[in-house]
Amino acid sequence: MNLMTNKVKEIFEIINNSDNICITGHKAPDGDCIGSVMALYEFLKPLNKNVTVYIDGLIPFNYKTFVKDGVIMKEKEYDNIVYDVLFILDCSDAERLGKFKDIINHAKKSVCIDHHKTNNSFADINIIDSEISSTGELLYDIMNISGMEITKEIAVYIYIAILTDTGKFSYSNTSSHTHSKIAELLNLGVDVAEIDNIIYNSKPSNVVKAFIDCIGGLELYYDNKFGIACITQEILKSNNVEMGDIDGVVEFIREIKEVEVSCVLKESESKSTKVSLRSKSNIDVAEVSLQYGGGGHAKAAGFEINDTIENTKKIIVNNFKVYFGE
Ligand code: 5GP
Ligand code: MN
Repeated sequence: MNLMTNKVKEIFEIINNSDNICITGHKAPDGDCIGSVMALYEFLKPLNKNVTVYIDGLIPFNYKTFVKDGVIMKEKEYDNIVYDVLFILDCSDAERLGKFKDIINHAKKSVCIDHHKTNNSFADINIIDSEISSTGELLYDIMNISGMEITKEIAVYIYIAILTDTGKFSYSNTSSHTHSKIAELLNLGVDVAEIDNIIYNSKPSNVVKAFIDCIGGLELYYDNKFGIACITQEILKSNNVEMGDIDGVVEFIREIKEVEVSCVLKESESKSTKVSLRSKSNIDVAEVSLQYGGGGHAKAAGFEINDTIENTKKIIVNNFKVYFGE
């Protein structure tokens, strides 16, 4: 039996001996986080355990259809609770749990399932595969090893996780294994066109206008090799949108031919700035992000800086001087 099979066996023994289970994922959740969390929630249902889900941050408009009301808890209600087991999905360190980072102290055992290369194995049991496309794909492997039923509903969640974290199966993390598993999910009844329409073709006009405002502020540096844009509070307010609803700006900047690294700065209401980085060259943005206490993947990573958006822009632009030799 390989290591993964042993760990899965151990996890399912823990689940069988548990009454109260908690599932969580990273703050400001994306498709992989939401898909994986919801897939595990549905997967555990037939076991008739008490399952609680916590995620810090809004569910973006395009994922709301897939999340049943009342499933995801937004405010802390675990002060006097100790869960038998806590699952932490798509999250490379405890800080990424945001306001729920102390939840790890409210569990007898923690299990982390993740695919970030910067994951420091912070849980009691860690299943980390930095080669795999998404947490959803890894979770699907775990579910298969367990031998329990994978329903169409679970297949949809896993599909969403893989679809979104591979950029519609276009990033280098997409493997032939990924495609084989996608074929299995389709055989379980996943409707790819329906999901595509909900996730990618349902943007409210104010979200698109906010997106255009962000792109309107694009700045290019170092012979156009580095592109940076800001999602400011002003843009959000003037278009009446939430930060989590604007997706794809950093990917859009990456589409520019000469751009090797794209960056988006997200201004928070407090004096801090979220930095998103994408790389199209051999510059490892996870390494850059680690220097600032963040993490991620070589080609997609991020971190947070306790500074204004203007100062953060200066810091980041200056940071990339050494890469682009000016
Ligand atoms: P995004 O730019 O879409 O927020 O994130 C890109 C990738 O970097 C994702 O895999 C995400 O989990 C990771 N990432 C983004 N921000 C942070 C951060 O502050 N800390 C860590 N550890 N990873 C991050
Ligand atoms: Mn992911």
